[in-house]
Amino acid sequence: MTDNKDIENLIKIISKLPGLGPKSAKRIVLKLINNREKLTKPLINTLAHVYKNVVRCKICGNLKSVNASCTCSDKKYEQICVVENIADMWVIQSSGIYKGHYHILGGTLPTMDNKQDEGLLVSSLINRVKKNSVKEVILATSATVEGQTTAHYIEDSLKGTKVKISKLAQGLPVGGEIEFLDDGTLFSAFKNRGPVVSD
Ligand SMILES: [Zn+2]
Repeated sequence: MTDNKDIENLIKIISKLPGLGPKSAKRIVLKLINNREKLTKPLINTLAHVYKNVVRCKICGNLKSVNASCTCSDKKYEQICVVENIADMWVIQSSGIYKGHYHILGGTLPTMDNKQDEGLLVSSLINRVKKNSVKEVILATSATVEGQTTAHYIEDSLKGTKVKISKLAQGLPVGGEIEFLDDGTLFSAFKNRGPVVSD
């Protein structure tokens, strides 16, 4: 604890950020106090700018500038990769494996049979598929119950569009030893087993 209320408040807010506890929040606050001009001022300005000017696109869920059109309104594209959140998209982007368009759902469906897609951008995905004559939708939701429930729901919702739907393969992780796999991974590895091709 410090004896300054303002500083305490700041530490409290910063420790709410992902990956930060009170200890690292204190270190950050100290750094900010000691670097008012070089760090704190540009941070305040940048935060204010992002707060005012960056919004989520209501169609694809990606981040966009408030006054600019989003990349999802680009002329033509044939593939859309569906992810749960922006962090997932960033991981796939930085892997370089896929360079096409994305659709960010903004979460997953509840696992119960309550299939409301309120808040999740599912109907706008169907509209995008229809409007752009998209050829393939790649479902890249997590291999969790929630992620898979959401993937099934999207598969069902896209049935009328005749788009090809593919899903990330699930199975043994690279370097995964059977002994240390959890039941879910082992189950999906068995379920998705493929034929052995001999040369
Ligand atoms: Zn968009």
